[in-house]
Amino acid sequence: MLAHSRSVLPYECHEVLHPWREQCMPAAWELAKPAFRESLKIYCVLYGVTGLIKLRKIKSFKQLKKFLYGLAFDTIRSTIFLGMQGLLFMPCCCAGRRLLGHIGYYNLYVDGIFCTLPAILVERKQRRGALALYMANLAVEVLFKMGAQRKFYTPLHNGEILLFAAASSIYTYMLKKSSEHKHNTLLFSTMKLLIGEDECAAPHEIKPPSEPKKKSLYFALFYKYLKCVQQWSQIQNKNQPTCKHTYHCLLHVLLGFVKRFLVGVLIQLLLHFISSPLRFLRHPTLFFLTLNRNMLSLGKFLGFYSAIYRLVSCLLRNILKYDRPAHGLVAGYLAGFSMLFFKSSTLAMYMMAKLIETVYLKYAHRGKLPFFSYFDSILYSLSTALVFHAAVVEPQAMRPAYYRFLERLTGGYFSQVNRPMMECFGVCSAKLFPNYKLPLTK
Ligand SMILES: [Zn+2]
Ligand SMILES: [Zn+2]
Repeated sequence: MLAHSRSVLPYECHEVLHPWREQCMPAAWELAKPAFRESLKIYCVLYGVTGLIKLRKIKSFKQLKKFLYGLAFDTIRSTIFLGMQGLLFMPCCCAGRRLLGHIGYYNLYVDGIFCTLPAILVERKQRRGALALYMANLAVEVLFKMGAQRKFYTPLHNGEILLFAAASSIYTYMLKKSSEHKHNTLLFSTMKLLIGEDECAAPHEIKPPSEPKKKSLYFALFYKYLKCVQQWSQIQNKNQPTCKHTYHCLLHVLLGFVKRFLVGVLIQLLLHFISSPLRFLRHPTLFFLTLNRNMLSLGKFLGFYSAIYRLVSCLLRNILKYDRPAHGLVAGYLAGFSMLFFKSSTLAMYMMAKLIETVYLKYAHRGKLPFFSYFDSILYSLSTALVFHAAVVEPQAMRPAYYRFLERLTGGYFSQVNRPMMECFGVCSAKLFPNYKLPLTK
């Protein structure tokens, strides 16, 4: 592909990169305006929602004043971070063209780094790691698709499921091995909820003897019924101490499924409602009619994950008569196949990236791996430059939703880039724009 074609274009930047404007600076400014406007909208909503959640911790007027100032400052800071990339992108590309005398396939990537690195240094330090991880995920996906399009390899069928299963097995192993997880605590807590506390390592601290644990409401009804029919002794767990759960193994598996299935269905129902609240108010019947079979997919994924994990764990404990953290590797791996019901390469890659981050941070804090203080900023910069590069030169290698986001951020100017002129790069740059029309130059 690229090897048989030209990697440089001897054109002016306004012929290819900003055909809507002949001069570079006005073209850059036109791109920057929507970028700042959209960034402000995004961050007002984001910080507004997180601010509402944090508001309950405010006790005095003085605290409220300080909190609101902080919120406004963070919103402006993040808006500058995102908007700045819209402002710098075109000047960096144009400067590259002027310095080298041509538009190069690889130069566009380097130009992107000059645009993304100053921007991330403006953003709050606490947010840089999460942003870097998100963009690195997107960049890996772009590289993977670029490789597949160049026929370097054929993508593995259901590869995302295998990736998720592998990540899941290590997460569950870590949960069974230790109860303390200093990094990515939220993710570990979510995984703990998914498999149940009985299946994880017991906490180190010795709790003072407390009153017996209350039974959940829905189980209380079931419990009452069983008591009536004198079957209670049969559902109690008799496999103590190998199996630490309260009820009989089969019931433990079944409860794991039902609880998570219902939570999954509820989450999807809520998401369906949030995406179209007006439709629900105007036509409630139509709202429920549009609930399709996919509405159960998240429920099935969560339910089967928990059930398979518990089933395999209980089987291993019953057969081997002991419990080891290594059981988590087998049970977590097999449970990972529940992703068949909710295929998501984004989720699989996110889980794997977070796992690598956790392991790295664990060893870096122990002094066994070097700690780079600006690693997150550099990772963000390199990854985002690659995503921008793909958005200009081969947008088909990008996640469509992210391309639409960039399109919104640039006020539609991204689609006006003259991609048919880039066809000689040999990467089918104009594939998504078969009816491209050159915009009128101002
Ligand atoms: Zn230019
Ligand atoms: Zn059991």
